[in-house]
Amino acid sequence: MASIWINAERKIVDVDDSWDILASKNQADELLSDSIKGKYITSFIKGDQIRMFLDAMITRVNITEKPYVLHYRCDGPHKAQFMRMMVSKENDDRFLIEHDLIKSEKIDPEILFKEDATSPQKRCAVCGKVNFKDGWFDALTNRKIFGTTHELKTQSTICPDCEDKIPH
Ligand SMILES: [Zn+2]
Repeated sequence: MASIWINAERKIVDVDDSWDILASKNQADELLSDSIKGKYITSFIKGDQIRMFLDAMITRVNITEKPYVLHYRCDGPHKAQFMRMMVSKENDDRFLIEHDLIKSEKIDPEILFKEDATSPQKRCAVCGKVNFKDGWFDALTNRKIFGTTHELKTQSTICPDCEDKIPH
């Protein structure tokens, strides 16, 4: 589990220890707590649609004062990671965002989807499906569709199915 706290302005005010452990493990020094505190959470998110999605989630939690849970995928080249994100309100100026790994499954052969904002190929930041040829495919269940390639450039977006999950 990794937790992050933001204020009403959506600036990061705190992270827990497991956040830093995870950032170190992934060699992402730019994501260590000292580097991210005081910055807007949206500045770390790739893609306008995803920023809007998160914004809508926080707005809804703020108004309803009820936690909002989103299941999403955060895959590595050789594993599908099923994640759970929960946004909850602690007070008017403090919101908690928690990320949990529910389970992971092996992707074989491995494939790396490399973020590239100029790529015509799109990848959904929620369900992890890639818009390839003429459909949306999951590398875990449809690995064959991507052929023998081990790397594909994709830009983050939200697929039509997941757009329906955006809170209104
Ligand atoms: Zn999707």
